[in-house]
Amino acid sequence: MNRFIPLSIPNFGGNERRYVDEAIDQGWVSTGGAFIGRLEENLSLFLHADDVAACQSGTAGLHLSLIDCGVKPGDMVIVPTLTFIAAVNPVRYQFAEPVFIDCDDSLCMDPIKLEEFCKQECDFIVGKLIHRKTQKQVKAVVVVHIFGNMADMESIMNTAQRYNLIVIEDSTEALGTFYTEGRYKGKYAGTIGDYGAYSFNGNKIITTGGGGAVTAAKADTVAHLRYLSTQAKDDSHYYIHNEVGYNYRMTNLQAALGVAQMEELPDFIERKHRNYDLYKELFAGYELGKIKEFRKGTYSNQWFYSLEIDMEKIRGTMGDIIAQLEKGGVQTRAIWGLIHEQIPYQNSICYRIEKARYYSRCILNIPCSTQLTADDICYSADIIKKVLGELSR
Ligand SMILES: *Cc1c(COP(=O)(O)O)cnc(C)c1O
Repeated sequence: MNRFIPLSIPNFGGNERRYVDEAIDQGWVSTGGAFIGRLEENLSLFLHADDVAACQSGTAGLHLSLIDCGVKPGDMVIVPTLTFIAAVNPVRYQFAEPVFIDCDDSLCMDPIKLEEFCKQECDFIVGKLIHRKTQKQVKAVVVVHIFGNMADMESIMNTAQRYNLIVIEDSTEALGTFYTEGRYKGKYAGTIGDYGAYSFNGNKIITTGGGGAVTAAKADTVAHLRYLSTQAKDDSHYYIHNEVGYNYRMTNLQAALGVAQMEELPDFIERKHRNYDLYKELFAGYELGKIKEFRKGTYSNQWFYSLEIDMEKIRGTMGDIIAQLEKGGVQTRAIWGLIHEQIPYQNSICYRIEKARYYSRCILNIPCSTQLTADDICYSADIIKKVLGELSR
């Protein structure tokens, strides 16, 4: 029998079926029902946040944040180029312009280049950061905690405070990541900036099929996000609406899955750690690739593992490597293509993109599902080494 190790699949070993059945039995399947509030409460407790609003997706959470903080047509928003495009598209939903910034070796936004962009390319005039060349106001920065790895929030928050920028944390990959040291000790990814968005898509650390959540530094802000997500309905009887709302609310069916998944989250993170440690051991001293680290002074959810391959030593492309691994029964994926090179963003402003170019060519994500056994990890590592060995110069 051919063995197959998937990259990242959901794990439904808990109360998922029971809770979904309950939601169906009660007839509450849509945007009302007890599981939604329960999931929001569980998330608030877990994240030590005052309030969290459950919504349709991580993308919706990011969009709601941009709406709430007043990003309008013609504004600018600073974003990373090395990330999933959902972190950037909501900027365009608001008819605002993204500015692309490079990553550093953590794969997250480079805080030095962020600061440099604000200082060199913009003027700070009466509390507003104005991009010199276009005279547009830079209102916010979207920071992504790539693969569960905390971005350098101490530096980023310093810059944001200096230039009066709103900070939206795309924590869609980082539910459970927190600081263990420093100024933000005990603070979770998504609860440091002004807004934090989470995703429960199928391959994230917990899943509701599709779904997400959003939090904010102030509880009344979260109440407003929740209100916007439910068509901005002011009155439950007379359909009074004082703002343009959205159909972004999570359903009770999704939330039933989410409540079950939250019960398992600590166990999922432990499994991620165990498997990551084993990969680290198996690739120690390996000459063709190394496993990337997570930030020191943090406890990461270690959602996705990255193998940095020495492409100089390889004949062929990342596509060849992935295809050979697939034949060996090991499913992997390349990191994202850079967003500023995608058709909708080719004319956008970029600031000194260097490292992202390098990492977009050499990072391979390797199997990381929570169900993987030690034997699965050893098998994956063996096949990866065999394939890279065969393709090496
Ligand atoms: C998954 C993801 C999103 C979007 O989340 P959805 O729930 O799929 O909308 C946004 N940004 C990043 C970095 C992601 O990985």
